[in-house]
Amino acid sequence: MLKNDQLDQWDRDNFFHPSTHLAQFARGEAPNRVITGGTNCHIEDRDGNKLLDAFAGLYCVNVGYGRQDIADAIAEQAKELAYYHAYVGHGTEASITLSKMIMDRAPKNMSKVYFGLSGSDANETNVKLIWYYNNILGRPEKKKIISRWRGYHGSGLMTGSLTGLELFHKKFDLPLAQVVHTEAPYYFRRDDLDQTEEQFVQHCVDELEALIEREGADTIAAFIGEPVLGTGGIVPPPAGYWQAIQAVLKKHDILLVADEVVTGFGRLGTMFGSDHYGLEPDLITIAKGLTSAYAPLSGSIVGDKMWKVLEQGTDENGPIGHGWTYSAHPIGAAAGVANLKLLDELDLIANNRTVGGYLNKTMTEALGDHANVGEVRGEGMLCAVEFVKDKDSRTFFDASDKVGPQIAAALASEGIIGRAMPQGDILGFAPPFCLTQSEADEVVSKTAKAVKSVLG
Ligand code: PMP
Repeated sequence: MLKNDQLDQWDRDNFFHPSTHLAQFARGEAPNRVITGGTNCHIEDRDGNKLLDAFAGLYCVNVGYGRQDIADAIAEQAKELAYYHAYVGHGTEASITLSKMIMDRAPKNMSKVYFGLSGSDANETNVKLIWYYNNILGRPEKKKIISRWRGYHGSGLMTGSLTGLELFHKKFDLPLAQVVHTEAPYYFRRDDLDQTEEQFVQHCVDELEALIEREGADTIAAFIGEPVLGTGGIVPPPAGYWQAIQAVLKKHDILLVADEVVTGFGRLGTMFGSDHYGLEPDLITIAKGLTSAYAPLSGSIVGDKMWKVLEQGTDENGPIGHGWTYSAHPIGAAAGVANLKLLDELDLIANNRTVGGYLNKTMTEALGDHANVGEVRGEGMLCAVEFVKDKDSRTFFDASDKVGPQIAAALASEGIIGRAMPQGDILGFAPPFCLTQSEADEVVSKTAKAVKSVLG
């Protein structure tokens, strides 16, 4: 075991942490935290502090920490066959079984699953498949992708462009030219406070229509969206939003990519967010909940309509020129199989409806009337509290006041991990699916205490 001082020094000297203030970290001004273990909804750090992780890592440890079944499946696979590739028709029992399990659970009209490693690379795959599709169909101009402001789709070149958050663009020369952004379905942050939800949905539709008109429908290939905006603020869409958006996309022959990296495999209380909102996507992005992050694995589920054209493309051009060394990695696949089995055996998706519903209800009761709480919102095992400076005029705090981060820090000192979402003063919760009712009570009461300690 390394001594703490040694570990801290190595950490500050060598480790380039993602999404971290690099200078402050290197200078020792920002805290480091070394996590050593976890069981169900709790993690433990090296100082022996036990924390209730109400964000499931990065909304990914869905079945909870410390699941022996998944650890065993990984160990057995590693001993039997740690790696073989999936190129030119190769596979393993684990990867083939997992593909069957995914397609059995996928929404209708989906055909095949391509495996990657992360949500970002799965969305890169999606964009390449969309471009390939339109080239095979003989419409090389139809290439742009519409994304929403506040959408999160990864942090690669293309996927960072799709992501509609300023921090992911600024100083990186993004977004790339093939990406255009439209209004987020964020009713609470609408410009016109007099708008009803219905009018706001119409406004989103009008904005989308105007964008398509401006760019030309023959230049637009696809629209990508998360069923519920995640990193952008945990924002379920207003009623009727997806139906109205899908009608516009159909009219202009624009493909729909449902990015289900957060919502896939049960977080909303249904297997997919597409099931919940009646989406009929052409591609579905999956990652996080596929293995509950016990091993890195992602996927692009390809719908029937696109699949036929991909087949035609390879008949005309030869094998598809796309693949990663680690596509369908056997260890990730073994983790995925064990994880999806556990999800069923423990009936965890039902828990997201009951305990997730309870969390949202009790959070609303505890904080909905607070003078600085503009909105409590959520769906299934997702919940968010958005803070405002003044409720009646819906004015927000200055970002420099760091109200969200302060509340998240106060909550952490109470032993609960929530997440200060990156844009706006929003405290997000996405607990593991095994959250119990008494753990939900603890999350709510300690959140109320943390809010009181910062805002009174
Ligand atoms: N899509 C969504 C909806 C996500 O939430 C994320 C990650 N938070 C990604 C894509 C990117 O996944 P990864 O970080 O695994 O690349």
